[in-house]
Amino acid sequence: MKVLIRGAGVAGLTLANELATRGADVTVVEKRRRIAGNASWHAGGMLAPWCERESAEEPVLSLGRDAADWWEAALPGHVMRNGTLVVAPARDAGELDRFSQRTSGFCTVDLEGIAALEPDLEGRFGRALFFAQEAHLDPRKALLALQEKLVRMGVRFEFGYGAVQASGRADVEADCTGMAGAKTGLRGVRGEMLLLRTQEVSLARPVRLLHPRIPVYVVPRTGNLFMVGATMIESDDPGSITTRSLMELLNAAYALHPAFGEAELVETGTGVRPAFADNMPRVERDGSTIRINGLYRHGFLLAPAMARQAAEMILGNEEGARP
Ligand SMILES: Cc1cc2nc3c(=O)[nH]c(=O)nc-3n(C[C@H](O)[C@H](O)[C@H](O)COP(=O)(O)OP(=O)(O)OC[C@H]3O[C@@H](n4cnc5c(N)ncnc54)[C@H](O)[C@@H]3O)c2cc1C
Repeated sequence: MKVLIRGAGVAGLTLANELATRGADVTVVEKRRRIAGNASWHAGGMLAPWCERESAEEPVLSLGRDAADWWEAALPGHVMRNGTLVVAPARDAGELDRFSQRTSGFCTVDLEGIAALEPDLEGRFGRALFFAQEAHLDPRKALLALQEKLVRMGVRFEFGYGAVQASGRADVEADCTGMAGAKTGLRGVRGEMLLLRTQEVSLARPVRLLHPRIPVYVVPRTGNLFMVGATMIESDDPGSITTRSLMELLNAAYALHPAFGEAELVETGTGVRPAFADNMPRVERDGSTIRINGLYRHGFLLAPAMARQAAEMILGNEEGARP
């Protein structure tokens, strides 16, 4: 079975991994010159189905709970299973109650508990929710490592305009082009993010800071880097971060720990999350074309489940599903 995958974001690369592992002959074509720069490149890398349930439907939890295992099996050593800590400033303590009513899989920790989990947050918050089963990864390192691994498995990569023209040389095509995909029903949800660098703060896990208007998270990465994200704006504009968003994200980081006020602002970025009206992803088939799209704010969390479904459709393990 020859499969041509269009798009080297998290949807395309996880599908390539599923297909190559099952013996398919896979080519990935990507219109950019390398895998960087897409929505997947700007993600936080949180594998947080219990926290996401606060605003997402139940399938996000049931489809996403095995995501950390999938990534660990695909890329050993890339997944950090340290859980998620959710905090709120004293004036927004009601947000913590609201969050706890809409989620499960957490325990409540007090001042000492917070200090034990995150010594640098000692004394800053009186109460927190700890989601011990959650995990995270560095999306950029993971995607680059996945690309390398796929090349070793015999998957071909072609980049740039010429590659995109290619068609008719595979049994099946898989459209994993995110916002460029079939427009029917797809909308963009703009997400702005920052990368900060400081040696003054150390965190072991993603920390979510609740706020009635702008909930924000800080995800630690190696090299004293912290990803701060992310805005949620109904727009498909991939343009530069606005000053307002920049101020809000920086304010939130500063509220989490004042040492972020002295941090180096290494990068600002914008990714556009492809979403359907119900904010749930879809695997669709149209003749010999399969589409994975609508990963919204759950690309790293839900792409493994979507890739598995798509691979079963393509390779015919699903009764009558072979296109
Ligand atoms: C700021 C931010 C933070 C996020 N944080 C998280 C998180 O913590 N956890 C999580 O699970 N998710 C997170 N997400 C969501 C996640 O990033 C997206 O759901 C995911 O990246 C979507 O992946 P994709 O492969 O569908 O699209 P993309 O990553 O956009 O990839 C699509 C690719 O297709 C290429 N392409 C387009 N047209 C063509 C064509 N004609 N031919 C070939 N190639 C083409 C594009 O260049 C692109 O590389 C976040 C998103 C943002 C923006």
